[in-house]
Amino acid sequence: MLLARTNCQPTLCTFEVSGHVPFDMSNELVGKVALVTGSGRGIGRAVAVALANAGADVVVNFLNDEAEAKEVCSEIETAGRRSLAIEADVSIASQVSLMVNTAQQRLGEISLLVNNAGISRPLPLDEITERDWDEILTVNLKSMFLVTQAILPAMRKGRWGRIINLSSVAAQLGGIIGPHYAASKAGCLGLTHSYAALLAKEGITVNAIAPALIETDMITSNPKARADITPIGRFGKVEEVADVAVMLACNAYITGQTISVNGGWYMT
Ligand code: NAD
Repeated sequence: MLLARTNCQPTLCTFEVSGHVPFDMSNELVGKVALVTGSGRGIGRAVAVALANAGADVVVNFLNDEAEAKEVCSEIETAGRRSLAIEADVSIASQVSLMVNTAQQRLGEISLLVNNAGISRPLPLDEITERDWDEILTVNLKSMFLVTQAILPAMRKGRWGRIINLSSVAAQLGGIIGPHYAASKAGCLGLTHSYAALLAKEGITVNAIAPALIETDMITSNPKARADITPIGRFGKVEEVADVAVMLACNAYITGQTISVNGGWYMT
C-alpha cells in the first residue's frame, strides 16, 4: 500500500492511500488516554502533542523540569484535549505505580502508552563501568517493563491498547553511543516482540520505533553525531518520529514491528 503524505503540519497529518481516499487522523484517538514517558522535551514532547492533535488526552510524565512539562500541557490543552503533568522516575516501581494510579483517577484508563524516557551516556569503550551499565539498563529498559506492567490491566480490561517503545538504530547497528546503550535498545526489541505475541489476541498492539540522529538535546550534545552519517544528509525532526507514533496508535493490524526513522542509515 502506498501512503503519500499530502499535508503534515504539526497539527494535522493527512495521508492519501494509493492516491485515493485521504485518511485524516485528526479525530482517530478521541476518547483515548495516552501516557508518554519523559515527554517534557525532545521526541516525547512531539509525540505527546501529535497524539493530542489526533484526539487523545495525554499524561505528560517528567523527571525534573516541571516548567517544561507544563508548557507541553498548555499545547495539548490548546489543541482542545485534557492533559496532566506527573513527575515520576520511571525506573522506580513505586513511582510508576503512583503515577499510573494518579493518572487513571484524574483522566481515565490509559490505553495508549509510549515508552519514550531514556538516557544516552556516551562513553569511550574502556571507560564504561558496571555502574554505567546498570544505570542505562535500568532507565532505558527496566522502565519499559515497569510502566507496561502497570498499565496492562487497564488495556486488557478494555480489550484495546497501543504500546509504542522507543528503541534506536543502536539496537540494529551499534550506533554512536556505546554497547551499554545499544544493549538497552536491543532489549527493547525483545520486550516488544514478546509482548506483541502475548497480547495480539486481546486488541493490544506493541511496536517499536528505531530512530537515528533526531535533532534533540541527546544528539546535539554528542560530538560524534554528524548529519552526514545518514544517506539523507541531515538530522531528523522530532515531528518525523511523532508522525510514526500517531500512525502506529491508529493502526490495529501492525504489531511486533520495528519502524526505522533513520534517514536511510544502514550497514555499509
Ligand atoms: P531527550 O534527552 O531530549 O529526552 C529524554 C527524556 O527522557 C527527557 O525528558 C528526560 O527527562 C526523560 N527521562 C530520562 N530519564 C528519565 C526517568 N528515569 N524517568 C522519567 N523521565 C526520564 O532525548 P530524545 O532524543 O528526545 O530521546 C527520546 C527517546 O528516543 C529516548 O529513549 C532515546 O534513547 C530515543 N532515541 C533518540 C534518538 C535521537 O536521535 N534523538 C535516536 C534513537 C533513540
